[in-house]
Amino acid sequence: MIDLEKLRSGNRRALAKAITLVESKLDKHRIEAQELLNQLLPHTGNSIRIGISGIPGVGKSTFIEAFGQYLIQQGKKVAVLAVDPSSPLRGGSILGDKTRMEMLSREDNAFIRPSPSEGALGGVAQKTRETMLLCEAAGYDVILVETVGVGQSEYEVAGMVDFFLVLMLPNAGDELQGIKRGIMELADALVINKADGESLSLANQTQGHYKNAFKLMKQNSFWTPTVKTCSALNNERIEDVWQMISDYYKAANENINAGISSFAEKRARQNSEWLNKLIHEMLELKLKQNIDVKNTLPQLQDDVLNNKTTPYNAAQQIIDLL
Ligand code: GDP
Repeated sequence: MIDLEKLRSGNRRALAKAITLVESKLDKHRIEAQELLNQLLPHTGNSIRIGISGIPGVGKSTFIEAFGQYLIQQGKKVAVLAVDPSSPLRGGSILGDKTRMEMLSREDNAFIRPSPSEGALGGVAQKTRETMLLCEAAGYDVILVETVGVGQSEYEVAGMVDFFLVLMLPNAGDELQGIKRGIMELADALVINKADGESLSLANQTQGHYKNAFKLMKQNSFWTPTVKTCSALNNERIEDVWQMISDYYKAANENINAGISSFAEKRARQNSEWLNKLIHEMLELKLKQNIDVKNTLPQLQDDVLNNKTTPYNAAQQIIDLL
């Protein structure tokens, strides 16, 4: 059993145990975890959720180390979670090895949790969302969700945070570092890291480059994506990144449409998307597990192949079995 009081008072062992429960694939644990989350829900939602993405080597862990320590100096409690796209597929992991963020991990006010190795319903991202709620109930003010700039995981993380930040390397020129337009559309900010030493002027050029690229994109919200530079290694301009996120937070809360702030609207939208995703996945699972469906489907597939029935009719028959 998880001690709710202990978890709420910030006991790290209780939090770690609760996360292990949430990550468990056992049905029994899933039920317990959902009960726990239900009880904790009134105490969640009070953090700033920040997604941090970028290709391997861009400096994510160095940045989080510096940024996390800066936030702690500002009196915040910081949780670092990860969505690692490689782990469920190949068993290997790009993020989350234990030697990363060594200094931050020694701080009392930091909590670092590597990516869950696999997720059942909703995948790894589902576990991270739930872990985020647990961290909020345990009093963490800032949740950093780290992911690697590959594929689906960026979309998943952007869909669970308030602010999505993409770290970039200094590299101006015409080729936009192979950055996908989709990522520019997801990003609330680009931060050019390694803006130090000989790379400083290149970093400034890159900044100008991306600023122009953002100008060309259609803006229809209260926030115009920003481009900053920093040196995570030298701890330079880290505070600018926090200032930018604070500005965003303020703007999102003050921009009211139809009685609801943009901040609340975004959270509500993310929640309903999460709900929809789960409904779809649960339905699919139910379909797969249904014995009548299992028995009927091969025949219907044959019928469709042999033009005996339309796909629509066949699908309708399957749905009627549920
Ligand atoms: P990750 O794979 O994105 O987590 O990247 P790491 O944080 O492990 O950094 C990759 C390499 O870049 C390491 O050797 C870091 O020391 C180096 N690095 C990270 N940030 C900076 C920076 O701001 N300036 C410079 N010059 N090197 C950096």
